[in-house]
Amino acid sequence: MATRKKTAPAPVSCPDCDGKGETSETVRVGARKGRATDNRQTALCLTCLGTGEAPADGE
Ligand SMILES: [Zn+2]
Repeated sequence: MATRKKTAPAPVSCPDCDGKGETSETVRVGARKGRATDNRQTALCLTCLGTGEAPADGE
């Protein structure tokens, strides 16, 4: 008989920022060329609003 542990649901890491709460993207210059620069832009993750947890469904 298998024993199933009852665990509290762990918070799901935000898929967009991987639980970091912020996203960093390489700044690209030029819409067409899309040349990557050394500049990186860190921005608050808009998906989880910086919490690093995936937002609950239904909201
Ligand atoms: Zn996020």
